Amino acid sequence: MEGHNLPNVCTRCLGRAFAMKGSGITNVARGNDALARGNLIPPTFTHSKESDCNICNGIFGRLQGYSNQMKMQSKNYEYETFLIGSRFPQEVIDLEEKFQAAVRDSEGESLRKEFNRELGKQFEASSGKSTNFNDPDITFIIDMNYDSIKLQIKSLFIYGTYLKLIRNIPQTRWIKYSEITDSVESVIGEAILPLAGGHEFFLHGAGREDVDVRMLGNGREFVLEVTEPLRRNIDLEAAQIAINSSGKGVEVHNLSLADKNKVIEVKSERNNKTYVAKIGVKGGTPEKQLMLNSLNAVCGKPIYQRTPLRVAESRSDAIRERNILDARLLEMDENSATVEITAEAGTYIKEFINGDNGRTKGSLSEVYGKSLEVLELDVIKIHRGE
Ligand SMILES: [Zn+2]
Repeated sequence: MEGHNLPNVCTRCLGRAFAMKGSGITNVARGNDALARGNLIPPTFTHSKESDCNICNGIFGRLQGYSNQMKMQSKNYEYETFLIGSRFPQEVIDLEEKFQAAVRDSEGESLRKEFNRELGKQFEASSGKSTNFNDPDITFIIDMNYDSIKLQIKSLFIYGTYLKLIRNIPQTRWIKYSEITDSVESVIGEAILPLAGGHEFFLHGAGREDVDVRMLGNGREFVLEVTEPLRRNIDLEAAQIAINSSGKGVEVHNLSLADKNKVIEVKSERNNKTYVAKIGVKGGTPEKQLMLNSLNAVCGKPIYQRTPLRVAESRSDAIRERNILDARLLEMDENSATVEITAEAGTYIKEFINGDNGRTKGSLSEVYGKSLEVLELDVIKIHRGE
């Protein structure tokens, strides 16, 4: 075998094969130690300088260049933390594995790991940003296959509570209404998107009310996600004023910056709710004493709800037991009764009232003895933290 046909390997790449031996020293120093101890480059490789090395290709001499490129590509983004990821050609990874196996040291460090760490140190020093392994604002992916740098920008998450003061706007944008109708999501998102300079927005709600139901009282929790934001320190007070004065029937309160864990937290919340419902009697007029007796009878009792057909697409068919915690009459006129009902989390309140053609057992219609219908419905309190 002729020497010039053997792959080249440098002292640093030798040192990396001994990376677990001795901390606080560089791989170049480890490589020199290894050579001094007589751990020579295996005969199937040729010792070379870094710039001729077939494994590292001299990239450690070009860290400043990568760092400058990262700075340029991220200059329009407001961020504090970053992380570096990298991809190397498969033949480089294979060659390194072959080399480390030939050196017979199983505790080597990979080229990728050393590169990510060393470039991270370089970038920290020249940009003033800090490395964050768990939740970085920007992840730089350096792809050696194409000599390119891609940026993954962490979404911006804003927590808040919303009120929906008018009927007939959906919580999120529906495809069939996407350009036609406002939604809670579009009213909030369109106010915040320009402040953050983001790409898109998504509303993650703590449950949802039907399109024709108002959300009043202490409001419903949500997290608005803005993707690829240019700015992270946005004026939430200005955003709140803009939304609440827009006249679009949506109000927000308690806005604060959050992280992606808040989305999971908000979406998994299950709270009891208090509603005000205006109820009519199909083909008749409500009788006050009968209504009072019926509300008394359901109060504190369990009901059994088979999944309503209208939501059967998104929820499995099952019979769920739910408790009606409180039910009282607020007012009455010749056409309707207005009642306040507090029900356990997950109760289908319209179906509790109308009976859902017998799919809800113990419904108000069943107890009242006539078919009741919900004319108007509001959520007036979500019992958080109780
Ligand atoms: Zn090398």
